[in-house]
Amino acid sequence: MRAVILGSGGAFPTSRRMLPAAALLREGEMFIFDCGEGTQLQLAKSRLGWARLRAIFISHLHGDHVIGLAGLLMTMSMGSRTDPLTIYGPAGIRGYVDLSRKYLKFGVAYPLEVREISGGPVIEEAEYRIDALPVDHRVFTLAYRLKEYPRPGRFDLAAAERLGVPAGPLYKRLQSGEEVTLGGGRVVKPEEVLGPARPGRTVVYMVDTRPFPGAEEFVRGADLLIHDGMFADDMDSESGPKGHSTARQAARLARKAGVGQLVLVHISPRYLSIREMLEEAREEFPNTRVARDLDAYEINYQPESLIDKSRHT
Ligand SMILES: [Zn+2]
Ligand SMILES: [Zn+2]
Repeated sequence: MRAVILGSGGAFPTSRRMLPAAALLREGEMFIFDCGEGTQLQLAKSRLGWARLRAIFISHLHGDHVIGLAGLLMTMSMGSRTDPLTIYGPAGIRGYVDLSRKYLKFGVAYPLEVREISGGPVIEEAEYRIDALPVDHRVFTLAYRLKEYPRPGRFDLAAAERLGVPAGPLYKRLQSGEEVTLGGGRVVKPEEVLGPARPGRTVVYMVDTRPFPGAEEFVRGADLLIHDGMFADDMDSESGPKGHSTARQAARLARKAGVGQLVLVHISPRYLSIREMLEEAREEFPNTRVARDLDAYEINYQPESLIDKSRHT
């Protein structure tokens, strides 16, 4: 999996930072979280395009997170997209899309569905699921989490041979978790030929929130946490009332929830240098980055030798 931060700024765009949007690429599918102004341009610059785009998840209806939507929808239509697209977001997102289409007078040449959600399961597939959780901002806002299910353990060829399982379809059945009965009546259980299940990967997008009680549970064990890092410590007393987190607060969450890597986004335009903010965050959680536009982050499976059980329980 790969995450690309399309826009790392918040509030208003600057020459250095565009507005919130993050692309997540997984096995031929692409998801976008938030769609700040100029997201379509950032997609072009990143060379990701939108051919693989399956769904857009909007955190909330503050302008800096949604103004890019109409432009992207229009361009995809002009670019002769035919694949279906679903937009998920809080109540109001449908009206926003409908009014944009009505007053800007553009049609969409592809099946477009807009679903208003308030949290819980959003997409459930065989290999992964996407869930949403209300966070604590000034308006109703959702965080999103893509979580892969654990993969079956590695097939132990030597064990299968030792037990007398003939190569072929029985291997596949064992791999998919079925018991098989051999010619002589001997039953072989999957756990006799499979190693321990291997954890999947988890990515959380949690943007525009002050710290809140349920955050840690939702984020627990994520390999990558993309989080609101609007302010440095100098704005500590103002960040909460404004509905945001400081870099340090985000890093504290990352540490407590045992995440793999923290990427701070929604950086306030007031900061020309991110040095202090980064130092403050790294005091809490060393594996922190402050994103720049178009930065890409690989989310790899953990090497089996290094699997930290505590992050996946
Ligand atoms: Zn914002
Ligand atoms: Zn906001």
